[in-house]
Amino acid sequence: MKQSSPPLGTLHHAVFAISTLTSRFPVPGDIPEGALFVVTAGQGIVVHTGDTPQIYWQADDLPASCTAGPAEYLGHRDRVPVYAVEIGKSAVLPGSRVETTVRELYGRVPDEDLAIASYAVRMIHSAAASRFCGRCGHSTEPVPAERAWRCPDCGLVVYPRISPAVIVLISQKEKILLARSPRFPAGMHSVIAGFAEPGETLEHAVCREVKEEVGISVKNIRYFASEPWPFPDSLMIAFTAEYDSGEITIDNNEIISAGWFGRDNLPALPAPLSISRALIDRWIQKEGTGQ
Ligand SMILES: [Zn+2]
Repeated sequence: MKQSSPPLGTLHHAVFAISTLTSRFPVPGDIPEGALFVVTAGQGIVVHTGDTPQIYWQADDLPASCTAGPAEYLGHRDRVPVYAVEIGKSAVLPGSRVETTVRELYGRVPDEDLAIASYAVRMIHSAAASRFCGRCGHSTEPVPAERAWRCPDCGLVVYPRISPAVIVLISQKEKILLARSPRFPAGMHSVIAGFAEPGETLEHAVCREVKEEVGISVKNIRYFASEPWPFPDSLMIAFTAEYDSGEITIDNNEIISAGWFGRDNLPALPAPLSISRALIDRWIQKEGTGQ
């Protein structure tokens, strides 16, 4: 499946970024005629089979188990509202439909459909996780004017969770720092990454994660690009930085090996789909510039 170009001004095509859905609030009380549906099943979705799997369903085709639960509004594609519904655990799928994970759809459907499929899964899970107030335990209600749920008893408003994570490519002269997490496939190395913590800036998160995981200090932190990563709810914010001081000292917990790699001795790298690979590829292309 051909990849579309990165939007103007960014250096990375974020596969899971939605570009064609627009939100129109308030959400209609009843689902309008002609609406389309994405049917989720746990962490995956149910598609129409074929050379190019189809992620959308018409209302008339939906199994009864889908219409029993709530429908989560995702946005409008042009004038057509799109909703996510969840298939029941005991539902029997018609012959032309099959359950698949979002990752298995990569390269088989347009990236925009992939983004919407993962968004549907996230919204169904967000709705389930927000059904009861986390402060007082009362049942919540959807807020009609935005993507949120409100507790009618104590007033708490909850939004779908987004977890910001920083990711940073550190360079020193003609080399970059790559590290191995115990979770990676054998041999694979990547850039340093970690979640931002309450009370810190993203730049601070970069410095802290680098110090914690490989023991060095960095300088000249610059924004690169961002990417929603829906497994399950990260927003990756990517940076470049330059080595400043210190010796590599790994934490042996999140990182089991790390080192400086030149363009001619790079280890196995992350898949091209990821923003970490985009950071590394961008650096490879800048050969000779010293960055
Ligand atoms: Zn409450």
